Amino acid sequence: MTAIAVLGSTNMDLVAYVPKAPRLGETVTGRAFRTVPGGKGANQAVAAARLGGEVMMIGAVGADEFGVRLRAALQARGVDTAALRTVEGASGTAHITVDDEGANSIIVIPAANARVTALEPGDDARIAAADCLLLQLELPLEVVLAGASAARAHGVRTILTPAPAQPLPAGLPAATDLLVPNEHEAAALTGLTDPHRAAEALLQDVPEVVITLGAAGVLYAARGREPVVVAAPRVRAVDTTAAGDTFVGALAVALGEGRPMPQALAWAGCAAALSVQRPGAQDSMPDRADLVAFAAGQGLPR
Ligand code: ADP
Repeated sequence: MTAIAVLGSTNMDLVAYVPKAPRLGETVTGRAFRTVPGGKGANQAVAAARLGGEVMMIGAVGADEFGVRLRAALQARGVDTAALRTVEGASGTAHITVDDEGANSIIVIPAANARVTALEPGDDARIAAADCLLLQLELPLEVVLAGASAARAHGVRTILTPAPAQPLPAGLPAATDLLVPNEHEAAALTGLTDPHRAAEALLQDVPEVVITLGAAGVLYAARGREPVVVAAPRVRAVDTTAAGDTFVGALAVALGEGRPMPQALAWAGCAAALSVQRPGAQDSMPDRADLVAFAAGQGLPR
């Protein structure tokens, strides 16, 4: 089984559904409210666990009710939470407004996530035991760098999702094996809106890049090789929340199982295509049986 460590965020998403988002100073009556577990780190962890990865989550929740629920939700989805600490104060939250058009606006309050500033005793050994470490930018950058450096020191593959988009700290690209931005993040990092040019620029700093292109699939680029576009399966998308996180979690499992890169990208694309056909974030992620059946229909080996 593929062992995957995730060093990342855990948030409770507080989602308000409204006909039209309020303007500054305005009060509107909404349609419904939901609380759902999220955070890019936790989402990637769940995506990988549902596909059969043995997943360890490193991060923090707060000492509040959300923290209890967030931990329980990860455990219920098969993620090991032994390295998920409970810190004083609030859990991370994302305050999301979704209007009838599906457009959203989001406020993220990192809270407990912001307190993960260093690896704890035991984390180094947990990272060393993994096949792969998944990283995003929703924890303080110093701990992201510490995690990537630990993985690099142990020869563990690092996959970095540079979201939310921001300049990478010195040393992080050098400790990254595979960078997986979406188009907007790739443009923010490079100032180049053309994905091919952005990928070329990113290859100056990291050996391999996958730029996700939404319904168009992904662009894969590696030093010294011709870039390739791997198309996404054509599906009817109803909710693309966490599509990128599903893709990354699935990619980590596929690579850990020894699938060659183009096939792993196609497999992860199938997982993401399944997720966009269902509403929700973690709830929309496919399990292994779903993915195997769908991928076989796309002509991929089991
Ligand atoms: P993010 O969710 O981070 O914004 P993207 O929108 O690029 O990233 O989506 C990530 C991946 O999810 C894509 O590369 C693709 O594999 C899959 N995906 C997203 N939208 C669709 C869609 N409409 N149809 C099929 N696959 C999709």
